[in-house]
Amino acid sequence: MSSTVPAVPQIPVMIPWLGEEEAAAAAEAVRSGWVAQGPRVAAFERAFADHLGVPHAVAVSSCTTALHLALIGAGVGPGDEVVVPSLSFIATANAVTYVGAVPVFADVDPADGNLTADTVAAALTDRTRAVVVVDQGGVPVDLDAVRALAEPRGITVVEDAACAAGSVYRGRPAGATAQIAAYSFHPRKLLTTGEGGMVTCQDGDLAARLRRLREHGMSVSAADRHAAGGGMVVETYDEIGFNHRMTDIQAAVGLVQLGKLPAMVERRRALAARYRELLGPLADGLVADPAHGTGNFQSCWLLLPEGAPDRTEVLARLAAAGVSARRGIMAAHLEAPYKGTARVPLPATELITGRSLILPLFHTLTEAQQDRVVAALREAIG
Ligand SMILES: *Cc1c(COP(=O)(O)O)cnc(C)c1O
Repeated sequence: MSSTVPAVPQIPVMIPWLGEEEAAAAAEAVRSGWVAQGPRVAAFERAFADHLGVPHAVAVSSCTTALHLALIGAGVGPGDEVVVPSLSFIATANAVTYVGAVPVFADVDPADGNLTADTVAAALTDRTRAVVVVDQGGVPVDLDAVRALAEPRGITVVEDAACAAGSVYRGRPAGATAQIAAYSFHPRKLLTTGEGGMVTCQDGDLAARLRRLREHGMSVSAADRHAAGGGMVVETYDEIGFNHRMTDIQAAVGLVQLGKLPAMVERRRALAARYRELLGPLADGLVADPAHGTGNFQSCWLLLPEGAPDRTEVLARLAAAGVSARRGIMAAHLEAPYKGTARVPLPATELITGRSLILPLFHTLTEAQQDRVVAALREAIG
């Protein structure tokens, strides 16, 4: 018996932009015999730091582990509170929980899904140690406004730029001006290494500590010890660290992907602009650039208009028409680990998470496919 097969070919939500060059780079790393963290990770870190124009970049295994290290680096621990948007992938809140602190959910701007100084202010207490702002869907958050609120109170602002490689904030790459920022290279983002992440920061001592923490707290990295000739250098372990390392195979892929990042952003922005034209009045609900920057359209999300059918129904109708859209950004305070923990009302969060959907957007999306998506959406909304 066959399982159910869609009547029409499905248009996926996302396809990573990978090719022969990435395959060759990965193969070369394998053939070199150096597959764990080594020279390619170091080269990828330098290239990523240069791309952003930041002094330090520390490669790690994911953005989740990047956030984990960032929060330790910011001095967050048990008894502390960290203000985060509920409207984010759950890893943002989980990283706070990993360090024994309490995530305190703040609401977002209904226009772009990001924290604002006002929504953060409503969630501050005398226990607040840090704020994690998110560039949701690649839309740059107004970092300066949140810093102006937080820093005079001794509160560190960490930027979760998981989605935002290639986005621009006040003329600089998103995350570049943050004290600490974390990036993801998961295939659902633009630049991918399979799994992978990066922490960037301005401070050299902090970067050195993050390098130790990602590698079991070792005072000398395994790669440096190897380069120095095995037993010549004896490392010490001065605090408890983790294994949050990236592999050289991943970094080899990342180096190729970084070179393609401008083309990825250009292509996604052009496709998003075409959606905007095609959608007509529905485009009112389409995520747009904020006044302070430009996004990479990592997620091209659309808020359904008032009077539209239920989102689940819209998604089902799209799927039947061969269009694989997704529910919009999740809200952590509605999931089991954080249910009932919201202290302030989160109306914009609940509106966006309940009424938005993510449209297919990938580099090989054709005009004909885009036309099909928009026609199916019109039909589904009625
Ligand atoms: C994807 C994502 C993460 C997690 O990234 P991983 O690399 O998969 O760990 C964290 N925060 C946000 C906002 C994300 O979108």
